[in-house]
Amino acid sequence: DGITLEQVREYVWEVPQTGNMRAPARFLASEALLEEITEDKTLEQISNTTHLPGITNHAICMPDGHQGYGFPVGGVGALDAEDGCISPGAVGYDINCGVRMMRTNLTYDDLQGREEELVDSLFANIPSGLGGGGIVEADVDTVDEILARGVDWALENGHAVEADLLHCEDEGMREGADPSKVSQKAKDRGKNQIGSLGSGNHFLEVQRVTDVFDDEVGDAFGLEEDQIVVLIHCGSRGLGHQTCNDYLRKIEKQHQGLLNQLPDKELAAAPAGSQLAEDYYAAMNAAINFAWVNRQLIMHRTRQVFERVFERSWEAMEMDLLYDVAHNIAKKETHDVDGEERELFVHRKGATRAFPAGHPEVPKAYRDVGQPVIIPGSMGAGSYVLRGGENSMDLTFGSTAHGAGRLMSRTQAKDEFWGGDVQDELEEQDQIYVKAQSGATVAEEAPGVYKDVDEVVRVSDELGIGDKVARTFPVCNIKG
Ligand code: 5GP
Ligand code: MN
Ligand code: MN
Repeated sequence: DGITLEQVREYVWEVPQTGNMRAPARFLASEALLEEITEDKTLEQISNTTHLPGITNHAICMPDGHQGYGFPVGGVGALDAEDGCISPGAVGYDINCGVRMMRTNLTYDDLQGREEELVDSLFANIPSGLGGGGIVEADVDTVDEILARGVDWALENGHAVEADLLHCEDEGMREGADPSKVSQKAKDRGKNQIGSLGSGNHFLEVQRVTDVFDDEVGDAFGLEEDQIVVLIHCGSRGLGHQTCNDYLRKIEKQHQGLLNQLPDKELAAAPAGSQLAEDYYAAMNAAINFAWVNRQLIMHRTRQVFERVFERSWEAMEMDLLYDVAHNIAKKETHDVDGEERELFVHRKGATRAFPAGHPEVPKAYRDVGQPVIIPGSMGAGSYVLRGGENSMDLTFGSTAHGAGRLMSRTQAKDEFWGGDVQDELEEQDQIYVKAQSGATVAEEAPGVYKDVDEVVRVSDELGIGDKVARTFPVCNIKG
């Protein structure tokens, strides 16, 4: 629709800078993926984001990108932290939605024949679905502590061990979180959701490792073929959603001048250095901590479920956190821009940090090989573990994809699929056991609503932004 796209080189496409664009926009995709991207508003949306002040180098859409609220899912925007801005819509409503993977020393053989018992027990013990109920019920003071301290709070309260912190992005705690910048309404929504999956796209999946592509990195990550692992995907629940909403409304009102320069109201942004930019950043950091505690509590409860099902301690089953990484986040980071060190708000919305080997923010255990990146596929397809690639700092501000990416809307999905049929088919054809609060959820999340994760990962690997390490396949899955 009037947007020109030029190929820069293999897998790199560019919308040249024209009109009020402050930089070009880039897509990282194969021709097959590009075709899917051009069917919705992704192209227009990523181009729109280049109107944001302080956009550095170019706005970038990852190979799994698709249309989102203002800023596309799969978008990376690095906005100058001194004279640029910060945009809640470029983080997303589910602040610190993310994934964590836990290892075990069990093999697929140990599980076979017990899938149903396991999935039932997980479903019964891990809160999921819309609305209330979490693993812990917190009072106001406890919520504030969680917001300020993240997984450190979980450690003190018996929901974590020290090693869990060491294997989480930012060790499970963002500095600069200020609970007083999170509204009472947001806290009220979050206080009985601490340790809950939520609904729809969020899940807990027991998987088996089907392939290890890189033995050296696989060793460093503790992954081998046939091993059982657990993948957890969820975020900051109502608390994060409310926080995003609160600040969007405030920013729209207070920074109308900037808003009027933008082609889409959904890109509302607060100028760097303004009070609202500071407040949103402090509130977002607090919501990030909340999400990390959420995933931590779910993981720790999963250990207890395995203990009951397999009648061994979780330590004996070596149920250790491999890594936890956010995929809806904005972070102040220092990057080399044309030979100059610059402070940038790197917005990753449906995009995963993918720092290469040697980067000081990669946990010690993985510093020699690169940061683990976890890319879920779907409940009927493979998922991947990558490691941050050598080219990620140059090409994507240290980022790669976050999933397969949606192919169709939830409404379209419900027309196309019937939950019960999807469930039956998964079980009969692939021995995958799915349990969900509602059939609608299963239809909305049917494997057919997602793009080809193998292709997304292939492009990431070919570009050298995130390299293939291992592939997993679902054994059983619980959803909201
Ligand atoms: P999002 O954060 O955008 O909602 O989802 C991230 C990715 O998770 C999606 O792009 C999709 O590829 C993947 N995904 C969604 N549902 C499932 C599931 O049940 N199992 C696995 N392994 N991946 C899923
Ligand atoms: Mn989410
Ligand atoms: Mn997510």
